[in-house]
Amino acid sequence: MTGLLTVRGVEKSFGDLRVLRGISFDVPAGTVTAVIGPSGSGKTTVLRTLNALDQADAGVITIGDLSVDFAAEVDRATLTRFRLQSGMVFQSHNLFPHMTVLQNVIEGPVVVQKRPRDEAIADARELLDQVGLAEKADQYPFQLSGGQQQRVGIARALALKPKLMLFDEPTSALDPELVGDVLRVIKDLAAGGWTMVVVTHEIRFAQQVADQVLFLDGGVVLESGPPAQVLTDPREPRTRQFLDRIL
Ligand code: ADP
Repeated sequence: MTGLLTVRGVEKSFGDLRVLRGISFDVPAGTVTAVIGPSGSGKTTVLRTLNALDQADAGVITIGDLSVDFAAEVDRATLTRFRLQSGMVFQSHNLFPHMTVLQNVIEGPVVVQKRPRDEAIADARELLDQVGLAEKADQYPFQLSGGQQQRVGIARALALKPKLMLFDEPTSALDPELVGDVLRVIKDLAAGGWTMVVVTHEIRFAQQVADQVLFLDGGVVLESGPPAQVLTDPREPRTRQFLDRIL
């Protein structure tokens, strides 16, 4: 199967620290990949290279019909196009505090993509409805719970109409009772056919939603496969150790 996302040989260092040591994987269109692994194994950095928030030092990343070789010089226009291929949701909602929920969601489409304001507003209302926040359009971020803010963050990323959604531990900063609503929204997106890569500590969620699980350790993909294999019958002792510690 051809991947919507293909990652080949991605390397990344920060100074002397080699964080990613040749990461390769494929994500077929319409599937969900969960990335798990110990703290410091490079999960967030992988996600950030997929969106070029951190530029890989080497490796080729292809999203849809755009392929970028990061060993070579990447020009600004290509980088901008590359970044717009995917939407990123961070650990904690970094919404603009002085803008309403609706303004937060239309900011990207109107300012970055120069889309007509009316059209962006209509889309944004639909997206807010999808994440269960239609009634909150005119409120400000401080008036919302952490989970609601996180769902606005998801709507804001979706508003740019990316091909791929990236989630970096989307529930780790939330109070336990707010986690379920956010995971439900991500599940709905999966059911709706979105292609997603989710860094998560929620193993049960990965089990339910992921088509593929990557176990990262020391900057490499130590093991990958369907959740039934990686999460319940891992081949690698280190995967087993990790799961024993967190389950
Ligand atoms: P994980 O998400 O698996 O916890 P990260 O990708 O966040 O791991 O980090 C992997 C390693 O890279 C860690 O040792 C972290 O300290 C280091 N690192 C991440 N980002 C930076 C950065 N911008 N500058 C320096 N070191 C970084």
